[in-house]
Amino acid sequence: MSGNEPHLDECGISAYNLLLKMSSKRNSEVITMSRLKLSRQDRKNLKTFLCDLVRLPSPSTEEGAVAERVMEEMKRIGLRDVRVDRIGNVIARVGPGSGRLLMLNGHMDTVQVSDPAAWTRDPFGAEVVDGMLYGLGSCDMKGGMAAMIYGAKLLRDSGLTLNGDVVVACVVQEEPSEGLGSRVLIEEEGIRPDWVVLGEPTNLNVSRGQRGRLEMRLVTHGRSAHAASPHLGDNAIYSTARLVFGLELLAGQLTEDDFLGPGALAVTDIKSYASSRNAIPYRCEIVIDRRLTLGENETKALAEVQRVIAREGVRADVQVTEYETESYTGYRHRTREFYPAWVLAEDHPLVVNAVQAVREQLRRRPQIIHWEFSTEGAYTAGEAGIPSIGFGPGDACRAHTADEHVCLEDVYRAAEVYARLAIKLLGDS
Ligand SMILES: [Zn+2]
Repeated sequence: MSGNEPHLDECGISAYNLLLKMSSKRNSEVITMSRLKLSRQDRKNLKTFLCDLVRLPSPSTEEGAVAERVMEEMKRIGLRDVRVDRIGNVIARVGPGSGRLLMLNGHMDTVQVSDPAAWTRDPFGAEVVDGMLYGLGSCDMKGGMAAMIYGAKLLRDSGLTLNGDVVVACVVQEEPSEGLGSRVLIEEEGIRPDWVVLGEPTNLNVSRGQRGRLEMRLVTHGRSAHAASPHLGDNAIYSTARLVFGLELLAGQLTEDDFLGPGALAVTDIKSYASSRNAIPYRCEIVIDRRLTLGENETKALAEVQRVIAREGVRADVQVTEYETESYTGYRHRTREFYPAWVLAEDHPLVVNAVQAVREQLRRRPQIIHWEFSTEGAYTAGEAGIPSIGFGPGDACRAHTADEHVCLEDVYRAAEVYARLAIKLLGDS
């Protein structure tokens, strides 16, 4: 958990800044290094802002109140072009308005409180205990999103000349449909970033990829009959059971990637249909959650399931599910639930600069990791092909769990790293 990371005290950072000043050859670097620290007042304001975000519930499609609070803060701290787009994403900029574009990307929505009885603290209480802020979304990922906004403030306050802009994008509906908000920004709002940094939790390490995700619905067709004469029917539950065992076998034989590891397959839902509880079911449906490793795609995943159906000789068909909803601004859309895997090369300049930014700011070398879960990167990197990485405060194990929390000190550090990375990518060199 983030609390185990080595933490610097304020004196440590000041001494480090002094050393950098002494060793730096260029004036701009001296300014850069010495100013990249949130002031005591900034830290206080960032904490207040993050507590407010956690106190405002924002389940997917109901992000309106959080969006209002985000816009208010962006305007208060002096970001420019603050606006909400057609689907409800909130965006703001820092920089000269031309040149290259770095997107800091976070999501405003959270999952629901899944097991209220398991929480020992109020999920919307924003309690702070021993430097940890508790609440739904604190780790996934209001902490990272607030840090990005304050990273942009730090960058603006540095007064450095930049060769491009930073756009902070706070997107909607990431939890049910990762990449949807970013797709709207890029394809419909015309924002074309050269790089994307995703603020999902990495414990201040650098993520350079993730497995993808495909959701499938498999429907088995049977024949109804009176349950007193089952031999006259064709029980769709029995046929589905054979398929489920076949899928369990398939799950153990999936392709493996050296970096991302193997794909995964799980049957996550089942539903049967019969005219009554004393009739033979004529239809049975299951949902398959399929995690895709690098090199796996929709066609391959569907073909594997179709081979199981053919082998068992069952009347069934499988297709990719669709996600259909309306955003809090009234934007309707429908999309197939396929989210591709992606990996950025370890020697890509974005990864190299991110590692350097962490080393310089936190005085430690970050681990290079991949996420087990899916993120907005499924679209930005997986579909749009924009170099993307992940960096954020918080331990991913705390996401979607009771007593979710994030280390406030790590939120402050993340803000400083975002600013430093932006200067590395856009600074006057
Ligand atoms: Zn998240």
